[in-house]
Amino acid sequence: MAKGGVMVTGGAGFIGAHVCRKLLEELGHPVICLDNLSTGSVDNLADLLANPDFTFVEHDITHPIPEDVPKCLYILNLACPGSPVFLQRDKEKAILTSILGLRNVLRFAITSRSETVFQASTGAVYGDPEVTPQRESYPGRVNPVGPLACYEEGKRAAEALCLAYREQCGIRVKIGRLFNTYGPGMHLNAGTVVANFLTQALRGQPLTVYGDGRQIRTFCYIDDMVDGILRLAMDTPGEFTGPLNLGSDVEVSIRELAEIVLEVTAAKSEIRTLPASAGTARLRRPEIGLAKQQLGWEPTTGLQEGLEKTAAYFRTVLETSAET
Ligand code: NAD
Repeated sequence: MAKGGVMVTGGAGFIGAHVCRKLLEELGHPVICLDNLSTGSVDNLADLLANPDFTFVEHDITHPIPEDVPKCLYILNLACPGSPVFLQRDKEKAILTSILGLRNVLRFAITSRSETVFQASTGAVYGDPEVTPQRESYPGRVNPVGPLACYEEGKRAAEALCLAYREQCGIRVKIGRLFNTYGPGMHLNAGTVVANFLTQALRGQPLTVYGDGRQIRTFCYIDDMVDGILRLAMDTPGEFTGPLNLGSDVEVSIRELAEIVLEVTAAKSEIRTLPASAGTARLRRPEIGLAKQQLGWEPTTGLQEGLEKTAAYFRTVLETSAET
C-alpha cells in the first residue's frame, strides 16, 4: 500500500528541500511542497520535479491553503525565512508567516484530517539565555522589541498556537526547536558564519572574525537535522508534543571554526580580526537529552566531515556562478 502523503511547507528552502528528498527517495512518501519562493528556489528541488510522487505548489501560507490541494497524512511546517539577513528584509511578513501562516496550516490540517502537524520552531525562542545549555523547560529571555523580535516572538507565538489547536481541536502537533544547521544546499549569502567563512576561503579572501573569536557556537549537519525532524514528526507517540531541541551540543569557538574551514578548503587565507559587533556574544547550545530519550537521536556527523561536504557544494556553486 502506498505510504501516506506528506505536505512540506517551505519545502523549497535549505532544510525543506532535504526533507522533501528524504521523504520521497528514502522513505517512499508522496510529497507536496508548498512554498512562496521568497527565500527558497525550485532549483533546490530540480532533481525531484520529474518524480510523479512529487508536487510543487507555489503558495504563500499567509493566505488560506487552497481546498484543491490534496489531503496529506502529515504536514511539516517549515515555511519561514531561516536566516536573520533574510527575515529582516520584511519583518512583518516574517511574523505573519509564523503566526497567520501556521494558523492556515493548522486549519487545513483539520479540514483535510491530517494526522500530525510538525512545527519547525527554533533555538531563537530562548532569546539571549542566562543559562547554558538550554533545556526545553527554560522559558527563554526574549526582548519583544529587539532586532530579531519578529522572528523570535513569531516562533514563540507559533508554539503557543500549536498548543491551543491541540487543546481546542484535538490536533496532534509536534514542536521541534531547531538550532544552527549547515550543509550542502545552504544559502551562500545568508550571512551565517559557516557560509561567510567558506565563501571567503574559497575566494582566497581573509576570513573575518569579529571580536576575539572565542565566542562559542554549535553546528548541526543537515542530514542529522533532517533525521531528527522526521523522527520527531513521524515516529513519536501521538501524545508527545514536545517542544524538543534538535541541534548539535558540541561547542566550537568561532576561531576554531575558521581554522577547520581553512583546513578543509586548503585555503591560504589569513584570519582577520575585526571589532566585535554589538549583541553577538550570546551562547546558544541545546541540551539534547530529551531528543536522545524520545527519538534515540543525536547528531553523528563530525564538523570536519560536514564542512568537507559543504565546501564541495560551495565550490560547485561558486564555479558555476563564475562561468555564467
Ligand atoms: P530557508 O529560508 O532556506 O527556507 C524557508 C522556506 O520557506 C523558503 O523556501 C521560503 O521561500 C519559504 N517561505 C517563507 N515564507 C513563506 C510563506 N509565507 N509561505 C510559503 N513559503 C514561505 O530556511 P531554512 O534554513 O530552510 O529554515 C527552515 C525552517 O527551519 C524555518 O522555519 C526556520 O525558522 C527553521 N530553522 C532553521 C534553522 C537553520 O539553521 N537553518 C535554525 C532554526 C530554525
